[in-house]
Amino acid sequence: MEYCKVFLKPKKEESLLRFHPWVFSGAIQSVEGDPEEGDLVEVYGANQHFLAIGHYQVGSIAVRVLSFTPITIDNAFWIERIRIAYELRKTLRLAGIENNNTFRLVHGEGDNLPGLVIDMYAHTAVMQAHSVGMHYARHQIAEALKAVLGDTLQNIYYKSEATLPYKANLGSENGYLFGGEVEDVAIENGLKFYVDWQKGQKTGFFVDQRENRSLLEHYAKDRSVLNMFCYTGGFSFYAMRGGAKVVHSVDSSAKAISLTKKNVELNFPGDPRHEAYAEDAFKYLEKMGSNYDLIILDPPAFAKHKNVLRNALQGYRKLNAIAFEKIKPGGILFTFSCSQVVSKENFRLAVFSAAAQSGRNVRILHQLTQPADHPVNIYHPEGEYLKGLVLYVE
Ligand code: SAH
Repeated sequence: MEYCKVFLKPKKEESLLRFHPWVFSGAIQSVEGDPEEGDLVEVYGANQHFLAIGHYQVGSIAVRVLSFTPITIDNAFWIERIRIAYELRKTLRLAGIENNNTFRLVHGEGDNLPGLVIDMYAHTAVMQAHSVGMHYARHQIAEALKAVLGDTLQNIYYKSEATLPYKANLGSENGYLFGGEVEDVAIENGLKFYVDWQKGQKTGFFVDQRENRSLLEHYAKDRSVLNMFCYTGGFSFYAMRGGAKVVHSVDSSAKAISLTKKNVELNFPGDPRHEAYAEDAFKYLEKMGSNYDLIILDPPAFAKHKNVLRNALQGYRKLNAIAFEKIKPGGILFTFSCSQVVSKENFRLAVFSAAAQSGRNVRILHQLTQPADHPVNIYHPEGEYLKGLVLYVE
């Protein structure tokens, strides 16, 4: 197959030679042919040698690389990449085992599939395309999933309405590519939960907090827990299994609260330790007393773009300051940021300012990040996004 060719300016091939999977539009000297967004293109250096093949895009990232060797992107390619991703999840002991069937199967650049995210919930794969190229490849990817996962796969839900570039105007609708209408109960570390991939945020569940939830369980015994920004209640049912005295879950979304209640009920039917409130975080934190000695703050990304970084850091500082002020002596704070544009250092600085403002003696017990099924491609450090601190507050 003949592909359009993208030629880079002199000296602009450095990052590709170091396997960084993006070509920025500013690095392009000329384009041979007239590629449309989503087409496969080949990338060449200034002296005409092959560098990469990938999906063409309109915007500051012009090409997302699928391979640094000249291969054909056919069904066998998709099967091979998905197979490698699945093998890794088995190695991580997340797939093919008894007490867990929830994991991220494909994490974009981290699995050498830029622009593609696939989360597994029991027998359902939820697929999300972030690029037009991946959107066009969706049926091939679905076939590859079936080939690799076999009988364990019964549904594939495609959910890209909100993640595809808006300007591409693809009119993509969310829906099943395979299977259909089901209510699946997924299992994470032996705990059960319903996932609403159709109406829920992202792919329906925040798979990336699995290990941090496990760590929380370890500290929960006899504590009074506040799970702020609880969404589907993940941290709450772990806290309950860990022996918490009380667990209060708070989220501004009424839908999230009803899912949290449903999930707690699924694991701990009729357990009086849990209460859930649909309320704004700042309002709740301002008016609450000082009864909690384990607080989780896992807010949505405060900054989605670099130019709002300052406001985001202010937001993290304000939020954490109230928690430091109110947490009981001897309390433990789990605090997170999932904004990609907020660096580990900046987040720590915001939390540091909040601690200083409260005047409390604070120690860092753990520095947390995303789990291994959200791997970071070593050539693409931008893939590291989740940051967390576990703090002991005297
Ligand atoms: N901790 C969750 C994920 C949190 S996602 C988990 O482990 O699954 C962020 C959540 O914050 C969303 O559910 C969103 O509804 C909620 N949220 C956003 N703004 C809020 C606000 N101002 N007050 C309370 N909750 C808010």
